[in-house]
Amino acid sequence: MPGSHSSLCIDSFYPETELKITEIQQDKKQILIRMKSISKKCKCPKCGCITDKYHGTYMRKVQDLPILGKRVQLEICSHEYKCMNNECDVMTIAETFDRFLNTYSRMTERCADFICTLALETSCEGCARICKALGIKISGDTVIRLLLKRYESLPVPEVGDVIGVDDFAYKKRHAYGTIIVNEKTHEPITLLDGRNAATLREWLRNHKNIKVVTRDRASTYAKVISEELPDAMQVADRFHLHQNLLEVIKKALNHELPATVSIPHVGQSTAIEEPCKKNRI
Ligand SMILES: [Zn+2]
Repeated sequence: MPGSHSSLCIDSFYPETELKITEIQQDKKQILIRMKSISKKCKCPKCGCITDKYHGTYMRKVQDLPILGKRVQLEICSHEYKCMNNECDVMTIAETFDRFLNTYSRMTERCADFICTLALETSCEGCARICKALGIKISGDTVIRLLLKRYESLPVPEVGDVIGVDDFAYKKRHAYGTIIVNEKTHEPITLLDGRNAATLREWLRNHKNIKVVTRDRASTYAKVISEELPDAMQVADRFHLHQNLLEVIKKALNHELPATVSIPHVGQSTAIEEPCKKNRI
């Protein structure tokens, strides 16, 4: 029907059991949403005790994801509680809103998720510029800090007993690193600075449980693995075997092909000689 429309309930985009929207204002560039906490209790982050001892209210200014091209700013009246555990040294507890907003964070978790995804696909500075165009205020340095914080909160990856080792370039001919991967889960375990034997040796010394190592065919890693893990099986990985095979085929063909190749033309008894260039494959 012409002119009909469906209404959008903005409350459903926020944790309704913890926050209540009190006011929404908008101008040409921004939507301001004021809300207040309706919590009655909170969990102490240190001792885990649940407390209902209200201590006070404070205002939090938080960025959220933009809506329809407008910047979204939240002003949240949030509660503070007191820990009731006499043996706990935490005095006041600023409440968190699980999976929506962390303590002291200046942006919602969904906003931080978006920024991290964008930064990983582009760069920290590039991400900051795109965010500015979308209506999210953040600097390149803050994007880096956000990524580091997310990385530190990740669970420590399982090392396992089958690993893969390879080098990679941060910048070719200048800076290299070594990556170690859990070959069963295909998850990266760690990145080491440099690609020399000493770096890998130190890491292997702390991981004597490893039984199988896949690697390239260079001698640097092979020697260290033999010395530190003499009982471990070393496997030349498929990627490097394939790469080596292609290099050998290329050399053999270059060697076997003549410097000039005769291409007979149709209806012409004599062939025309086409010079071949060196390194033609
Ligand atoms: Zn406590």
